[in-house]
Amino acid sequence: MINLKTLEVWFITGSQNLYGEETLQKVAENSKTIVTYLNEVDQIPVTVIYKPTVKSPEEIYATIQDANKSENCIGVITWMHTFSPAKMWVNGLKILQKPLLHFHTQFNRDIPWSTIDMDFMNLNQSAHGDREFGFIMTRMRMNRKVVVGHWQDSESLSKINSWMRAAAGWHDWQGAKFVRFGDNMRYVAVTEGDKVEAELKFGYSVNTHGVGDLVEVMNKVSEEEIDALVAVYEEEYTLVDALQPGGAQHQSLREAARIEIGIETFLVNGNFKGFTTTFEDLHGLAQLPGIAAQRLMSKGYGFAGEGDWKTAALVRAMKVMGSGLKGGTSFMEDYTYHFNPDNRMVLGAHMLEICESIADAKPNCEIHPLGIGGKADPVRLVFNSGPGPAINASIVDMGNRFRLLVNDVMAVSSFNPLPKLPVARVLWKPYPNMHTGCAAWILAGGAHHTCYSQSLSADHLEDFAEMAGIEYLLIGKETSIYQFKNELRWNEIAYK
Ligand code: MN
Repeated sequence: MINLKTLEVWFITGSQNLYGEETLQKVAENSKTIVTYLNEVDQIPVTVIYKPTVKSPEEIYATIQDANKSENCIGVITWMHTFSPAKMWVNGLKILQKPLLHFHTQFNRDIPWSTIDMDFMNLNQSAHGDREFGFIMTRMRMNRKVVVGHWQDSESLSKINSWMRAAAGWHDWQGAKFVRFGDNMRYVAVTEGDKVEAELKFGYSVNTHGVGDLVEVMNKVSEEEIDALVAVYEEEYTLVDALQPGGAQHQSLREAARIEIGIETFLVNGNFKGFTTTFEDLHGLAQLPGIAAQRLMSKGYGFAGEGDWKTAALVRAMKVMGSGLKGGTSFMEDYTYHFNPDNRMVLGAHMLEICESIADAKPNCEIHPLGIGGKADPVRLVFNSGPGPAINASIVDMGNRFRLLVNDVMAVSSFNPLPKLPVARVLWKPYPNMHTGCAAWILAGGAHHTCYSQSLSADHLEDFAEMAGIEYLLIGKETSIYQFKNELRWNEIAYK
């Protein structure tokens, strides 16, 4: 969907002119070695660009100005190989518009016990140089990620990886456009929100088009285009008999293809990165878009139902963050519960629109009636999603701020066939357990709509929230209701 290697993170090493040419040459050489290594290892998903050592306020300012201007630069990594007096950094940091990762590393992993002398000490000063740098960022109240460890240590690399992926999602949001076909589902609260504030905070814009604008595009779709997409459906899915050529409802499959092509054309023409639909506004559409939403999500578009633009945008960002990773990412809804005391769990699904990227096998393409929306039977992909660790994430509008809420969950295999359930589904157990996990989610005001991801972990979203400067709450293995309620209470003050 998006090749993260086309994106850049700039590696900026700080020093000063105090040490003389020989030391500075060594600093530059070592920085290049680190950058070369980062570009060679699999763990680093983004291209790392070496920048010449900065040694003065002017060099720092100019380098950061360039980073701001560079279209492919999604963030900067800073490292103080030697001491770099941090007042030199103030004006540069003041204008920085990209996420920053402070890599507190050292070129030499080990102290060379038998040869260490003052030259070595002067060259390898990050232990205190990075503290000076850390102070100024704390003094300036700047959000950033601090990663501590040797640059060849895979634990450090994995933290850098997570931050880079978050930065890629963040970069993708800047200037992004999302379209809503119709408004919010009537009377629903949690899917509402302040779109102006979202644009200020997140960088993306959300605008509505009457569904008639979409219908106009759909009506221009040719029979040949529909033939071609129906052939793809036949190739990629197991079609139920009724949808097969000559089947009683084959025409509905063709109608579904028309809807998919129409929406995709609309998104491409308008340069939109995602969309929402609502079953309350389908004038001129034969069916609620099911397979269309499912397939467009798997191509990387953000989507959510019922006008839920916050979740649609989040789905898009999380798809960018997870690019190239194993596992899928989908719009999701906590649908119904299994409260058996031996095996409590949530069944996640939606009326139709679950992304096929989380399917555990070739999906079935089926058609069933849908009472809600009052339209013709919609075509949808039906599948199970596999077991394993996953997360659910939700952004809610608290009125004075946005809150990103994440729950670690463990998906489980379906232990019973579900022959009558006509939608894609996932079964999961929330951490720390069903009762605490769901209670914490509800206390935090988390939506019923989420983005469900098998490929990302809570760490990605923690970094993402930091970049956005929004509140982040995790419900994980360690969560207790007592502690969580205090966190909610204290955050009310922190964000006042
Ligand atoms: Mn819904």
